[in-house]
Amino acid sequence: MDEILKNIIRDKGPIDVAEFMGLALGHPAHGYYMKGDPFGTRGDFTTAPEISQMFGEMVAAWIMDVWQQMGAPEFTLLECGPGRGTLMADIMRATKSVPGFHEAAHVHLLEISPALRAMQAAALDIYKPEWHVNLETLPDQPMIVIANEFLDALPVRQLIRTGEGWRERVVAVEGEKFVYGTKDLPFNLGVQAEEGEIFEISPVRSQFVMDLMKKMDGAALIIDYGHAEPGLGDTLQALRKHQYVSLLDGVGDADLTTHVDFYAVKQSAEAAGGKVFGPVEQGAFLKALGIDQRAETLKTRATPAQKTDIENSLRRLTDSGQMGWLFKVMGLTNGRAIDLAGF
Ligand code: SAH
Repeated sequence: MDEILKNIIRDKGPIDVAEFMGLALGHPAHGYYMKGDPFGTRGDFTTAPEISQMFGEMVAAWIMDVWQQMGAPEFTLLECGPGRGTLMADIMRATKSVPGFHEAAHVHLLEISPALRAMQAAALDIYKPEWHVNLETLPDQPMIVIANEFLDALPVRQLIRTGEGWRERVVAVEGEKFVYGTKDLPFNLGVQAEEGEIFEISPVRSQFVMDLMKKMDGAALIIDYGHAEPGLGDTLQALRKHQYVSLLDGVGDADLTTHVDFYAVKQSAEAAGGKVFGPVEQGAFLKALGIDQRAETLKTRATPAQKTDIENSLRRLTDSGQMGWLFKVMGLTNGRAIDLAGF
């Protein structure tokens, strides 16, 4: 992958960070998401649904509430970036005794990775999911959408404050090495900053949110790490085997993500006619949906080892020093008056 990317840059010149990120993750043959399974303890990172079934159970309760407010119609249950399919499997298990729900829910998955599609197929085949690479092919019917750690994988551009004002960070090649450079910015960024500071923008993410709002008649739940207010900072991180590595090292072998600017997501959703709830911290959202009570119930039939596990998972998901604060939850509705639970 390194060599392919170097040749692209040698051919057409330095590329912006969004293009670099898009290729490192999504290159059809060598991109990170086109290869094996990045999840789990031996993989590169662990996500909330992989920590505990309680996460999916709370999301299931949220979905049930939305579905009932919509009048319990037949609908598209869309998950964006489902990973191993664990969250959707937990949601379907948690809702199996709800009358009419499984008949009404048509499971659709937005996923680019062939390796992960295969895992999703194994986890979800009884629900006959349909896969998509973009939103255009989704059917026109009421929709409930979930996206956990999806928006953080969409590419960002990095603008950098220099002695001559704002410029755009690019990745160039010097000899055999990737190096950072800058290029002119074709617009004026009205943001105050010290020299060297970075401001991230994600046109791809904004466009995705707007397209989702245009397509969606229903509600969406977006969960990700990020900030509620716009801010300065280089949040692009490369993670391999639970270790932070350099962005420019072993391209295609590390997961690249950034913090989600929820303020920008809100603006994009509203610009496309959507209504926005939150963001609230993940800990507060899960508690509002009853995760503490659920943990107590699970503990009544658990062995001592399982009890410890339940308590540890609960803390990982909700404590502010762990996922509870950095992770935010945002609700979006469009086309219907729905009062979203948890906000
Ligand atoms: N939601 C899962 C996985 C999060 S990782 C969990 O919580 O465990 C990000 C997921 O988004 C992966 O499934 C990845 O393959 C998918 N993905 C990343 N970029 C994508 C894109 N542009 N289009 C569709 N899926 C994408």
